[in-house]
Amino acid sequence: MQTPAYDTDNIFAKILRGEMPCFKVYEDDTVLAFMDIMPRGEGHCLVIPKAACRNMLDASPETISHVHQAAQKVAHAALEVFRADGITIQQFNEDAGGQEVYHYHVHVIPRHEGKRMGPAGVMGDMEAIKANGEKLAGVLN
Ligand code: 5GP
Repeated sequence: MQTPAYDTDNIFAKILRGEMPCFKVYEDDTVLAFMDIMPRGEGHCLVIPKAACRNMLDASPETISHVHQAAQKVAHAALEVFRADGITIQQFNEDAGGQEVYHYHVHVIPRHEGKRMGPAGVMGDMEAIKANGEKLAGVLN
């Protein structure tokens, strides 16, 4: 299968351009990390590259490296801030792979022993998400 072209109107491209808001937790020259608004666990956030790529399939090796290095940084912060016991990393590619937003992203989901991950697609409490984002940003910046 040929990877389709990047769509500059996807929601994460709009967040990167500042056209849509987000709860930012980390940013550097190559990546942005922000809270997922439909969290599958307390502190669920997303790391995206600033480079325009649809998913891992069309991302450059450098972009993949930047995203995963940032995901590691965010994961360490989440372990500390949320007193998590583990971290689940998720990354989906194309419709058949479970992808819904077509700008490359990695999910960083703090996990606690014995607690199942919540369902996908359920809007979270914005005040709680904002507060969790501020906690993470506080140790990352
Ligand atoms: P995926 O493409 O990895 O299957 O899912 C996209 C993820 O982006 C989902 O976890 C969803 O909750 C999240 N998401 C979708 N729209 C928005 C948005 O406008 N803002 C934020 N912060 N997250 C979003």
